[in-house]
Amino acid sequence: VADVVIIGGAIMGSAVAYYLVGDCAFRGSVVVIERDPSYARASTALSAAGIRQQFSTPENVRLSRYGVRLLKDELKDRFGPDAEAGFREAGYLILASAAGRAVAEANNAVQRAEGADVALLDPGALAERFPWLSTDGLALGSLSLSGEGWFDAYGLMRVFRAAARAKGVDYVHAEAVGIERAGDRLVAVETTAGRIPAGVVVNAAGPQAGDVAAMAGIALPVEPRKRTVFTLACRDRPEGMPLLVDTSGVWARPEGEHVICGVSPPGADPRADGDFEPDHGLFEEIVWPALAARVPAFEAVKVVSAWAGHYEYNTLDQNAVLGPHPEVTNFLFANGFSGHGVQQAAGAGRAAAEWIAYGESRSLELSVFGYARIAQGRPVRELNVI
Ligand SMILES: Cc1cc2nc3c(=O)[nH]c(=O)nc-3n(C[C@H](O)[C@H](O)[C@H](O)COP(=O)(O)OP(=O)(O)OC[C@H]3O[C@@H](n4cnc5c(N)ncnc54)[C@H](O)[C@@H]3O)c2cc1C
Repeated sequence: VADVVIIGGAIMGSAVAYYLVGDCAFRGSVVVIERDPSYARASTALSAAGIRQQFSTPENVRLSRYGVRLLKDELKDRFGPDAEAGFREAGYLILASAAGRAVAEANNAVQRAEGADVALLDPGALAERFPWLSTDGLALGSLSLSGEGWFDAYGLMRVFRAAARAKGVDYVHAEAVGIERAGDRLVAVETTAGRIPAGVVVNAAGPQAGDVAAMAGIALPVEPRKRTVFTLACRDRPEGMPLLVDTSGVWARPEGEHVICGVSPPGADPRADGDFEPDHGLFEEIVWPALAARVPAFEAVKVVSAWAGHYEYNTLDQNAVLGPHPEVTNFLFANGFSGHGVQQAAGAGRAAAEWIAYGESRSLELSVFGYARIAQGRPVRELNVI
């Protein structure tokens, strides 16, 4: 028996567990069910781990800004002097052509209203600041001056997990295979290690969140979609390179002595159950031509490796589904982040924990991400999906 059963124990499940016992001083019992404690195929382990404030929806800016605050200011206070999550505050530079100028300016206004430190640079200023960048076809670049970059997502997951376990959360190595429901209440989770009666059930199953919701007879439009990341060796790596998002949608950033990069596949983007084979064609056809045109030093790169992971893709609007189900109120979602989940895990985990402990999200107003919009088919329009 557990007061709270969390299905999925990677960054999202572990953040919910930590904030429950470490922040909300929840006194009930918490069990996390994780089918693969090696996390080899978890999105968290295969992520590019970028963190940005450059969204178009204020709530997305807020969620990620809390992640930045945790990484920059709160990590050691909360988790002790040895806690480390490798935050590199090197920024994001999102480029826009003339066609994208109006959207970039509107987004900038939203971001600045939320307190984000983001500047719009014209091509002259871009060329001066980033001499390695070709400004051909650019109208502007949106550059964060602080509070964006990348971090060690696996490391942050371990920090949450260790802190949750130290405060009594029980991680069970098992797969959830069914959810018992009586009317509008969930009653228990069936697992490969037995049945666990539950007061509250949290869906933190990442790309499998749709499958887990279906176990409770609830439709959730979240499914695994494959994303490939390429690791490049580059002799003249651009100096002071932020995470660059080209007008083509191709992104690239430094990683140690290498550069990593990728793009969302144009066209068909089917469910990817079990498919972790990197899509090398994407590099030849889209990523490399775009990068070589934008950063001439990248004409002479070599792919040294590649990996593929799964986005937990929300097919309605590529945004989080967060908080309790409106009718089945003891079922909570922390799902559907579609490629921005590691940076939002802290904010989302804290919000989910507050819903459980206090019946409301106290630190951030996040009702825009509630399940009600899914039921009504009413998407949240986020323009900066990378
Ligand atoms: C290539 C790539 C690049 C990305 N880049 C970024 C980025 O730059 N910035 C960013 O913020 N995000 C990024 N993301 C997205 C981010 O990785 C995810 O949003 C985040 O990791 C989701 O965390 P999660 O804990 O919900 O899911 P996961 O890490 O997938 O964890 C879900 C866990 O649930 C377990 N599970 C599933 N079903 C069951 C079951 N039935 N029973 C028990 N356990 C179960 C799984 O084993 C897994 O450990 C990227 C993702 C990919 C794939």
